[in-house]
Amino acid sequence: MQALEIVRYPDPVLRQPAKPVERFDAELQELVARMKHTMVHSDGVGLAAPQVGISLRVLVLSEDGTPEKARALINPKVSLSGPKDRETEGCLSFPGIYAEIERPDRIRIEAVDEHGQPQVFEADGWVARIVQHEYDHLEGRLFIDRMSSADRVRIKRDLEHLREEWQAARA
Ligand code: ZN
Repeated sequence: MQALEIVRYPDPVLRQPAKPVERFDAELQELVARMKHTMVHSDGVGLAAPQVGISLRVLVLSEDGTPEKARALINPKVSLSGPKDRETEGCLSFPGIYAEIERPDRIRIEAVDEHGQPQVFEADGWVARIVQHEYDHLEGRLFIDRMSSADRVRIKRDLEHLREEWQAARA
């Protein structure tokens, strides 16, 4: 299977709120399979469809980065609870950039998988964090929006570099 190309900051698709999936057909199942493959192949633990240039409410995750644990959450609804926690996050659309992000520790998820089967569960810690990060992508929200102002200053150069690369690739 060929990996999909990962869209990098500042591609505008990353800022677009994604549309709900309406058809659970072979095309969707193919997209999910390719997203799982791309995530594992890129050593990621999560990937959202806008990150492969497709503005649909589809995310995949694998908390240990293995294909066995890879699963899809489609049209997810997320409720947050629990105390806030800070952990270091990265993002496949921001290669080389890492920062501590504060997020609630516990979530409840209502979604369906690529076959339309309901996926309702609670999660905390690492899984709760991955789902929140990927869910943000579906809303057009990025982890740089949640960084502390000190971290934003620290990574300013790296962001400029990504913008230059993106512009050069389109020139
Ligand atoms: Zn991300």
